Amino acid sequence: MSDSSLRLVWVYPDLLSTYGDQGNALVVERRAQQRRVPVTRVDVRSDQPIPTSGDIYLLGGGEDRPQRLAAERLRRDGGVNRAVANGAIVFSVCAGYQILGHEFVNDLGRPEPGLGLLDVVSTRGEGERCVGDVLADIDPRLGLPPLTGFENHQGVTHLGPSARPFAQVRVGRGNGTGDGTEGAFNDTVFGTYMHGPVMARNPHIADLLIKLALDVNALPPVDDQWYDALREERIAAAVQPA
Ligand code: GLN
Repeated sequence: MSDSSLRLVWVYPDLLSTYGDQGNALVVERRAQQRRVPVTRVDVRSDQPIPTSGDIYLLGGGEDRPQRLAAERLRRDGGVNRAVANGAIVFSVCAGYQILGHEFVNDLGRPEPGLGLLDVVSTRGEGERCVGDVLADIDPRLGLPPLTGFENHQGVTHLGPSARPFAQVRVGRGNGTGDGTEGAFNDTVFGTYMHGPVMARNPHIADLLIKLALDVNALPPVDDQWYDALREERIAAAVQPA
């Protein structure tokens, strides 16, 4: 970063924004503001070039056809890959997560190349769609409390050797491979199947991204009362479905 402000890029709200995933951008923005970190949010539609000078890029979920269109445009644009090469942080959800991998199966049933930023490959699950509340334990090296989220996907994501599972599910399906893994990450690129929006249920993930972007070890505490109440409610729902 050239100064102390944070540049947040919300990628393709017109294609990748199902299940309120835009809430992730709102939460990151708000958590930065609460720490008096100046933050600029740029929403980049799919007919616009992706800026390469952002600090944090967020991608949401999408239906199958918009997902293919988004992948085509992101590959052609190349901006997210250039930003990551410059050290940017990327956090992606569901369709966005699949797009960051090497390949996924598109709406036409064909393999569609992704951006290759995560060492994962997604296929279409043969079984039932993965739908429901999830409770998972995030990789301990990230130092975060349990992950709560909502999943709704047909895709199954297989991790290669350089991708670490983001979490291990206690309840729910996550990557859908049957090995209990959920999501993936490497140094600065994260993917998850969790909607919610996931940052509203797990504000500490937003804080982690801000800390990575600012290269600081800690942030001043903020009032998490509202988030804690939501977490409690949704974790209870996952453990004991209605
Ligand atoms: N179309 C993808 C799947 O079903 C992603 C769905 C989503 O983003 N909710 O796997």
